[in-house]
Amino acid sequence: MSIKVTSVSKVYKTQKALHNVSFSADKGQIIGFLGPNGAGKSTMMKILTGFIKPNEGTVFVDEIDVLENPLEAQKVIGYLPEHNPLYKDMYVREYLQFQAAIFKVDKSQIEACIEKVGLTLEAHKVINQLSKGYQQRVGIAAAILHNPKVLILDEPTTGLDPNQLVEIRGLIKELGKDKTVLFSTHIMQEVEAVCDRVIIIKKGEILIDEQLNELKENNLQVIEVTFDYKIEEKLIKRLPNVVSYKNTYDNTWFVTFESEDDMRPVIFDFAQENGLKILSLNTQNKNLETLFREVTA
Ligand code: ADP
Ligand code: MG
Repeated sequence: MSIKVTSVSKVYKTQKALHNVSFSADKGQIIGFLGPNGAGKSTMMKILTGFIKPNEGTVFVDEIDVLENPLEAQKVIGYLPEHNPLYKDMYVREYLQFQAAIFKVDKSQIEACIEKVGLTLEAHKVINQLSKGYQQRVGIAAAILHNPKVLILDEPTTGLDPNQLVEIRGLIKELGKDKTVLFSTHIMQEVEAVCDRVIIIKKGEILIDEQLNELKENNLQVIEVTFDYKIEEKLIKRLPNVVSYKNTYDNTWFVTFESEDDMRPVIFDFAQENGLKILSLNTQNKNLETLFREVTA
C-alpha cells in the first residue's frame, strides 16, 4: 500500500480541520482530492508529508510511519505545496541545484527532471521570467528530484490559463505512470480528465471515495423533501445511504442517496417514525457533474 491514512483528526486551536479521515491508495493510482476552500485538503497533505502532526490517527506512506519517521517518509514523497513557493530570482537550473543540495540528491538527476517536466528550453532562464505554467513545472521538477514513489501536489493547476492547464494535467498523468499521485483541486473536470479515483472532502470529512468509472455508473438518487416541521441536521444524518444533504430552505432538504433501492418509501417511514408529515417529495436524476457541484458548493 502506497498511502494508508487511518482515523486522522486535526484541530487548529479551536478550528476543526479534519475529522476521522481514512483512505488508502495502491501503487500507481492518480487520485484527485476534491473539495471547496477550507475543506481540509492542504491540512491532509501537510500531515501526509510529515510537516504537521494530527491530533489523532495514523499515517503510513510506502509502509513508513510518517508520524514516527517523517524524515524517512519524506525520502519517498515528493511535495508541491500550495502556492508553489519558489525563489523566483534564481535561475531554473540553479534553483534545482540548490534544492538537490538541500535534499542531498545526486545532481545527475537534475537534467533528467528538467527534461521530464518539459523545461529544457527554459532551464537557463530566471524563474521570474517564466509563465505561471512553467513556474509550476519548476515546482514539480523540484518535487521529483529524488525520484519519490508518492507525489503530493497541492492545487498544482490553480491560477493557470487554459493551455497551461492542459499541459500540467498531461504532465501529472505522465508522472502517474510510475508514481502514486495525490493532487488537490476544486475543479471537477480536472478530476475527470486526470484521475483514476476521486476523494471528495468537505468540512474535514470524506464524503465520497470512489473509482471514477464506478462513480459514473452510480446509483445516486437525489430527493427533495419538504416536511411540515423544521428538523435538525442530525436527524437527516440518520437516514440510511445518505451521501450528502443540504437544507435548501426552512423545512426542505435536498438529500443524495447512494442505493440500489428506491429511497422514497424509506423517507416516508422515516417521517412517520419521527412524527413528521411529508408536504412534498421530488426525485431528480443526478450525474457526476451535479453531484460534484452539490457536494463542493
Ligand atoms: P483547503 O486546503 O481544503 O482549502 P485547509 O486544510 O487549508 O483547507 O484548511 C482547513 C481548515 O483549517 C480551514 O477552516 C482553515 O481556515 C483552517 N486552518 C488551516 N490552517 C490553519 C492554521 N495554520 N491555523 C488555524 N486554522 C487553520
Ligand atoms: Mg489548500
